[in-house]
Amino acid sequence: MRRIRRPVFAANWKMHHGAMDAREYMHTFLGAFTRHSDRTLIFFPPAATLLACSEALKQRSEILLGVQNIHWEDKGAFTGETSASIARDAGAHVALVGHSERRHVFGETDEETGRKVAAAARAGLTPLLCVGETLAERERGATEEVVLRQLAAGLAVVDTAHATELAIAYEPVWAIGTGKNATPEDASVVHAAIRRYLAERLGERAKHTAILYGGSVNRSNAAVLLAASDVDGLLVGGASLDAVGWSKIAST
Ligand code: PGA
Repeated sequence: MRRIRRPVFAANWKMHHGAMDAREYMHTFLGAFTRHSDRTLIFFPPAATLLACSEALKQRSEILLGVQNIHWEDKGAFTGETSASIARDAGAHVALVGHSERRHVFGETDEETGRKVAAAARAGLTPLLCVGETLAERERGATEEVVLRQLAAGLAVVDTAHATELAIAYEPVWAIGTGKNATPEDASVVHAAIRRYLAERLGERAKHTAILYGGSVNRSNAAVLLAASDVDGLLVGGASLDAVGWSKIAST
């Protein structure tokens, strides 16, 4: 099958790698990873590490940076928060929104994800909206209902009628950091439902919206997950922390 969307390989470092580590990482990574013009690479370092990554990737503008979380307001008295434009000025092109750790560890609501998607778009960042069901939701057969609810809420405020670039990541909560990935078949079913929803919402543009899979992706399952229908890329946490290992996955 010919792909109409370039595969996306996104590395979510979570709360790992400060500036010094990141410089070393990028040095090793760039030495190991041969330039691929047929794919999109995105690193999501901690916000305080963005600038160091941006400097390390100066000669490699085809590799994008993203911020792991943003606030929904553009500026103001929000101690400890990062706005989309601050992230953009530090080198980010993409903003992760609604990652399951934000939702389940920090109590981020569906409504807040919608406001964050809109804030990212206002600042010119591409929102990468994460959706996914918990184990309990899956066991009661509510996967599609939950994912579609999160999608609708995530896109509720943003002006999708305009050319907001957008990407989605399906990350089942039970698969994140657990070593239990979704099967390619399971991922395809959910990705197809997401694609149908986007087609209704965005029309033709849905064909160009990347839908990534995330949750316990590693070197042995990356190829088969990426080959699943409607899977356009991978969002990888733990297995992206090692520069050489990640260069191999990103070469899949
Ligand atoms: P994992 O995390 O690859 O370590 O499961 C994925 C993610 O949280 O984005």
